Amino acid sequence: MVELVTVGDELVNVRHRLHAHPELGFREFDTTAYLVSQLTSHGITVAATPMKTGVVAVIDGGRPGPRIGLRADIDGLPVEEDTGLAFSSLNPGVMHACGHDLHMSGLLGAAWWLAAHRDSIAGSVVLLFQPAEETGRGARSVIDADALGHLDAFIAIHNNPDYAPGEIAIGTEPMMAGCVKFSVGLHAEGTHAGYPHMGTGPIEALASMILSLQTIVSRNSSPFHPLVLSVTAVHGGDVWNVVPAEAGFTGTVRYFHHSDGQMVERRFRRIVESTAHAYGIGADVEWDDFQDPLVGDPDLATAVAGDVDAYARLRPIRPSMAGEDFCEFERVTRLVFAFVGSNGTEGHHDWHSPQFVGFDATVQTAVRFYVNAALRVLRELE
Ligand SMILES: [Zn+2]
Ligand SMILES: [Zn+2]
Repeated sequence: MVELVTVGDELVNVRHRLHAHPELGFREFDTTAYLVSQLTSHGITVAATPMKTGVVAVIDGGRPGPRIGLRADIDGLPVEEDTGLAFSSLNPGVMHACGHDLHMSGLLGAAWWLAAHRDSIAGSVVLLFQPAEETGRGARSVIDADALGHLDAFIAIHNNPDYAPGEIAIGTEPMMAGCVKFSVGLHAEGTHAGYPHMGTGPIEALASMILSLQTIVSRNSSPFHPLVLSVTAVHGGDVWNVVPAEAGFTGTVRYFHHSDGQMVERRFRRIVESTAHAYGIGADVEWDDFQDPLVGDPDLATAVAGDVDAYARLRPIRPSMAGEDFCEFERVTRLVFAFVGSNGTEGHHDWHSPQFVGFDATVQTAVRFYVNAALRVLRELE
């Protein structure tokens, strides 16, 4: 049976309050205090954790059963809001430009409903209001603090302005990209620019590397697998008449399949090292696997998706090239992840834009997803 939970003014007001008071990652102190008050005032006990920001709470059902988690991220971004919304950010230079206010409101609404119906639930639901998603380190900090205990499955959402409120995308395909940060340092023997033969130089090798690296996407990767390799910063040299000794570049790789991530690293190191060798200079590569691709557990995703049309509209997944640190929890449990439509109008602004607008109606879709996905996953794992 599907629950058609209806969201009232109280929760919309909560959303506006959260949107107006955004805080940056690991500094969500006011947000944390507000979330605690909204949980305890609805009879939900907050768990003690070593976390400085963020909240964990547990709703125990009337009967024993599986122990699952529901997660919302809570941080804002260093963006100056330019939406003109009546409930715009009151904190200068900080904005909920990724719509995490919608996730928090949705999870609060679901928590209120689950707590009110706990007697009919078999199992326990752990709520995580997670800090610092945007830093890429928030999920890891929760795991390191061992703040959740064992979970049989973990459910999360991200709002998505490509879809309208009332639309949900969930399935077995990858949803958010794996993300690598790379950095290359080149070490040559600097010399007078008029006497280049007296040394070596990093600049030509750097130019050659940047162009050759693009062939990983065009020649080594399947055209059916999305892949990005972008060099985004280059440095080397200060003056016009000196061949510098040092140069380098940094950038990012985005991919959806683990095998592609491994292939790119292999080819990347090969191109940089052999080009450096050909030019007679040294090179070192820093390769930071910042985030894994986010792919839900196929059995649970299929089960949850099967209910969606009864309370929202199920849409095909349009994968996002952005990363999401919820992937970190894949190391400890089975994941369920969905996009919840937040805008869907023509010409809407994307996540992280100063003009990003997520509609209030998103909260209703989010609450329905959290509640119905939780009930479905509890039944599947019983
Ligand atoms: Zn974001
Ligand atoms: Zn986000």
